[in-house]
Amino acid sequence: MIGAVVDEVLKEMENAVNEGRKAADDYMDTETGFLMCGKCHTRKQKKISFLGVERVVGCLCQCASEEMEREREKHRAEEELLHIRQMKSAGLQDSTFFDYTFVNSDETHPCAKYARRYVEHFAEFQKNGQGLLFWGNVGTGKTFLAGCIANALMEKNIPVLMTSFPKLLNALGGLYSGEKNEYLKSLNQYRLLIIDDLGVERDTPYVLETVYLVIDERYKSGKSFIITTNLSLEELRNPADLEHGRIYDRIMERCVPVAFSGKNYRTDKGRKNVEDAAGKLRDEPA
Ligand SMILES: [Zn+2]
Repeated sequence: MIGAVVDEVLKEMENAVNEGRKAADDYMDTETGFLMCGKCHTRKQKKISFLGVERVVGCLCQCASEEMEREREKHRAEEELLHIRQMKSAGLQDSTFFDYTFVNSDETHPCAKYARRYVEHFAEFQKNGQGLLFWGNVGTGKTFLAGCIANALMEKNIPVLMTSFPKLLNALGGLYSGEKNEYLKSLNQYRLLIIDDLGVERDTPYVLETVYLVIDERYKSGKSFIITTNLSLEELRNPADLEHGRIYDRIMERCVPVAFSGKNYRTDKGRKNVEDAAGKLRDEPA
């Protein structure tokens, strides 16, 4: 008795579901009796055995299952994009760094190829904690190319932190010594640490000690780091005193020096921007 009721209910559900799945151009295959998709001409129904009875149930035709796969892929891509956006907002401590990408870069820059190669071979570099030292005059594109590396690696799902000593000093300023160690160790969650503009921080014993602690922690962890600085290689190789020496030694031991010289990219860019604006002023309105 109950069996019959269940059977009736199932049949009704089946009909309702099959009816709901039916599109205007679907048709019945006269040979098999299955509902066929009017678009891809594959089955929209199949036979299954349920509670000992053979039943016809709905299934995905080829075009519907392809559509579902596309939706799934779209969703996955959106999730990944969101993840990368979150990673960037945590890893780039200056909003201008977001625009420092290879897409926006000047490919004729003599150092662009090194930055690209570092990204391409990052797996090998990080194995031995190898990094880069971008050194040279102000405005030669060091920060820009370091930012390109940061963005490109994060787009490959590799966590990077790009910061500066003034920012790190600020973050460490209010912490007790135990918390300080925790904070320094927490930087090791980033597979690459980029510290922009070494040498601009104030030269006090406290600052020097903190800079040393940051570099030393990274050095001991065996993880890669990139330093940009306006200091010359000469200054880095011949430090004024022991305090600077122990910082620079660790940097020189892990980071390949890349010289940034020649034209001042920042001025060039600024000049181009002003010329661009001047051009707009000259343009006759249409
Ligand atoms: Zn179909």
